[in-house]
Amino acid sequence: MEHIHGTYNLQLVILSYFIASLASYAALDLAGRVSLTSGRARHWWVACGAISMGLGIWSMHFVGMIAFVLPIHVSYSVDKVILSVLLAIIASGVALEFAGRPSNRISKLVFAGLLLTAGITSMHYVGMAAMSIPITYKPGLVVLSVLIAALASYAALWLMFFFNRPESRHHWVYKIGSGLIMGLAITGMHYTGMAAAHFHQVQAIPESLSRQLESEVLAYLIAAGTFVAIGLTLFGNFINQRMVQKDQRIRENEQWYHALYHNHSDAIVSVDREGIIKGINAVVTTITGYSEKRVIDRPINQIIEQIDVECSSKDTIHAWDQPDLEQRHYMAKMKNTQNELLDLSIAVIPVIIDDTHVGSHILIKDITEETQAQQNIRHQALHDPLTGLPNRRKLDEVLANTIHACEQKQHKFAVMVMDIDRFKMINDSLGHSIGDVFLKEVSHRIVTTIGASHPQATTNVTLARMGGDEFTMVVTGEQADERQVVCLAEKIVEAIKQPYRLKENDFYVTASIGIAMYPEHGAGTDALIKHADSAMYEVKKNGKNGYQFYTAQLDSELYERIELEGYLRKALERNEMVLYYQPQIRTLDSRMIGVEALIRWQHPLKGLLAPDVFIPLAEETGMIYDIGNWTIREACRQMKLWHASGGPLIPVSVNLSSQQFHQSNLVEQVQNALIETGLEAKYLELEITESMMMDAAVSTAILNELSALGVKISLDDFGTGYSSLSYLKHFPIHKLKIDRSFVTDITESHSDQAIVATIISMAQNLKMEVIAEGIETKGQLDILMQNDCREIQGYYFSRPLPASEVENNFFVPLRLLGERNTVFHSV
Ligand code: C2E
Ligand code: MG
Ligand code: MG
Repeated sequence: MEHIHGTYNLQLVILSYFIASLASYAALDLAGRVSLTSGRARHWWVACGAISMGLGIWSMHFVGMIAFVLPIHVSYSVDKVILSVLLAIIASGVALEFAGRPSNRISKLVFAGLLLTAGITSMHYVGMAAMSIPITYKPGLVVLSVLIAALASYAALWLMFFFNRPESRHHWVYKIGSGLIMGLAITGMHYTGMAAAHFHQVQAIPESLSRQLESEVLAYLIAAGTFVAIGLTLFGNFINQRMVQKDQRIRENEQWYHALYHNHSDAIVSVDREGIIKGINAVVTTITGYSEKRVIDRPINQIIEQIDVECSSKDTIHAWDQPDLEQRHYMAKMKNTQNELLDLSIAVIPVIIDDTHVGSHILIKDITEETQAQQNIRHQALHDPLTGLPNRRKLDEVLANTIHACEQKQHKFAVMVMDIDRFKMINDSLGHSIGDVFLKEVSHRIVTTIGASHPQATTNVTLARMGGDEFTMVVTGEQADERQVVCLAEKIVEAIKQPYRLKENDFYVTASIGIAMYPEHGAGTDALIKHADSAMYEVKKNGKNGYQFYTAQLDSELYERIELEGYLRKALERNEMVLYYQPQIRTLDSRMIGVEALIRWQHPLKGLLAPDVFIPLAEETGMIYDIGNWTIREACRQMKLWHASGGPLIPVSVNLSSQQFHQSNLVEQVQNALIETGLEAKYLELEITESMMMDAAVSTAILNELSALGVKISLDDFGTGYSSLSYLKHFPIHKLKIDRSFVTDITESHSDQAIVATIISMAQNLKMEVIAEGIETKGQLDILMQNDCREIQGYYFSRPLPASEVENNFFVPLRLLGERNTVFHSV
């Protein structure tokens, strides 16, 4: 047979290479997705890749055939053409399927490469066999063509599946490179295969080749094939683009998640359904000291056992493998690596994927500081900042709980309300900061006494400060009976009585304690406190410094007190206050040398009330300022009137209460009263008590200002105030008033006589006047006169009288005698 030699159309050769490369690119690109997907999507991608690649190879092959121009007419067998296409598609499909499997890398590559090589070569030689002319092959070149196909197939697969990193920035270079190499494999194989072929001249077309294709038709088919290949490529590219974008989004989401997970201020532990740790963030390591390596893939229960975690709820440990799809929250405590106890707030958040609970994120927040702050706020809300003792709110809580507990066990307990007598005086005279120091000392003494009284802790005492100088104790315990409570009350009274060293001086106060027993004196918080209060007021009323249990009778007294307060508020405006005057007498000649103004209240229902009944109430409620100012004014007015109408030119003494004495505008008030009434200052004497002068510096300043006005100062109730005598010489005091308590028993008591005698001589030495109060009998008068007491005041001469009676009893004889400042006799 005669050989036929063909020539190549170079453009078509180049075109065939591009078709091959383009198809390979598209196929590999699509197939690249195979390794990233699974399930149905994977089959779909394999099919697309196979069709695209099979058609691409096939198109290239036949363009290459057309590029080879033979001098004779050549047609093609349809069956074989179809078979070659199918071979190309199937081989490509199987190769891609294997190459995309996520198994052993080398064997996969070998197998996939073999299949691809087989596909390409078989497609080529079946396609050659479709030609209507006889062909013989040079075996050497055939083998070479197979080797080229194999080599290039391996290179392309390796590039595509093993070397390629989809996340790399040069991804597209690998893709194009793979396509070009793959194109080279196919075209190289094809043209080598062509070089191996010898075409022979035939005379006639065999019958069996009746289903033949003409080159033109084939050209259309190739064009269609190429079109489909490129179409699939474009489609693949389009899909791929979308996938890339999706991948990008997934990667971005992953990075967002990563940033949140690893930079979160809370510790995060991720566990699967079985409680195996799958991830932790850095905070976990900071808190527990465990590195990620040490905990990953270990059961969380094991780790929890190793670190000291104490959960508020027992089932917390297993919270993550609960089928519960709800979030759960727990509180826990744990020691960190520095051995500090942390408060943790734990949230277990289930991770649900496609309706399946696959695990949980456990968010662990360190709330130690917040808890601490909350505890501080709660502590502040329930405690007194000055003494650190529970406050009224806390006491209410304790009381309510105690009542609840004792109700069930039928136990007794006591509520003790304590008030410091004379605290106001300390506060007023020494100032608030010293008052605070004093209160701290008081609370310290009570705490110590409580501690010392109950060493066996058979009783439990809660001490609270209710404000000011008021303390409350709740005494509970099996032995909290009256006997125990009395014992405690006595010890507290004793402890409070001891001197207080304030501003380098000793000060004395006393305590009044009222006690109510549960359930005898009340079943509720309010009743118990109220009744203990009533008992406490009773102690105060009866001379302070002691304790008393509540009795039903006290209730009505408390009610009376409240009622009295209501009346007192209106007393001044209703003109119910009256001043009585008690004459002060010179013993030498029984001459009236002065009067003391003593206030009385003409109560609309109760009649005339003595100051003891309402002055303490006025002091407590602050009404004392108005009442005191009225008294000064009224005394001055009355005195001026007497002077003007021919009465004796004697002075009037007005009592000041502690609060009044420390009132900032006292001097102004006194001055105004003098100016308004026109009374000369020398006719006004102000009576103060020793206790008002606790702070020497403050009292000296006030006294000096008053003295500067020309007003005189008497020291009332002298001898009862525990005060140091050394201050006497520093103060501008004109007169000492010996307290009635020394006079009452003076006829029997030698010690009282001695005290009185001492006071008198001391006053004379200090160049002060001295007057004795409360003289009721001739015997008392005689002893005082023997001791050189020159001035006296007492019922023996006269009770305090209304102004008119003073006029009648003391002024009338004077007028009859027609002279002023004369001698009066007692009535
Ligand atoms: P005080 O200043 O020591 O007044 C003397 C008190 O002794 C007066 O009682 C007077 O009636 C009473 N008294 C006088 N002589 C005798 C006596 O021979 N025997 C007895 N048993 N008592 C005698 P009063 O008027 O009830 O006053 C009591 C206290 O009330 C006063 O004691 C004074 O501290 C205070 N007070 C009276 N008036 C005022 C006032 O206007 N302002 C203030 N802040 N206190 C006043
Ligand atoms: Mg007085
Ligand atoms: Mg007095």
